[in-house]
Amino acid sequence: MAEKLTKEQAEQVKESLLHHLDKFPEENREQIKEQITSMSLDDVQHFIEENNLSHLQKCIFCSIAKGETPGYIVSENKDNIAVLEINPLTKAHVLVIPKEHTDINDSATQLAKEIAEKIKKHFNPLKISINRKKIMEHPLIEVVPVYENQTPKRYKASEDELKKLQDILSRPLEKPIGNTGKQQAEQDKKEHEEPVIKLKPRIP
Ligand SMILES: [Zn+2]
Repeated sequence: MAEKLTKEQAEQVKESLLHHLDKFPEENREQIKEQITSMSLDDVQHFIEENNLSHLQKCIFCSIAKGETPGYIVSENKDNIAVLEINPLTKAHVLVIPKEHTDINDSATQLAKEIAEKIKKHFNPLKISINRKKIMEHPLIEVVPVYENQTPKRYKASEDELKKLQDILSRPLEKPIGNTGKQQAEQDKKEHEEPVIKLKPRIP
């Protein structure tokens, strides 16, 4: 790796590495996590070179948005994808990831608000913080519910927890049970003369 990292890049690489802890053997994870957290700029550079991890400098969020890296997707709109954070601060911590590496627009905020509504409805947190941040230069929005008597602290979510949350949060707000899709929704509308799901028309 020819390029030297800046301090900011090193911080971003550290954060990205923490997202890849599951690639290391389980018995080493705690140790590696501590190691990553306490690294200096030079340490980060050495760590990447020694462990042959330069591919980690590829943007993980672009990779998730393209479907190259699997993620627990809970929602999506034209420009953004929303996934569960696998190392969440609290239960139902969601990341809204713009599909473009450097572009973020109001539709990301819109999606973050929709998800916050669902979290509010299903999990009744004290409050929900919605923060913009950049990791590996990729802008994103964090949606972090804060619950009563609980200090947010990063943990590794189990597959079981993530699957359950994905199931709950991917349901549309207006209609909690089942997702019948556009055709069914229109049929229902004709039959009952009342809208069931509000769907945006798809314009190619
Ligand atoms: Zn990216």
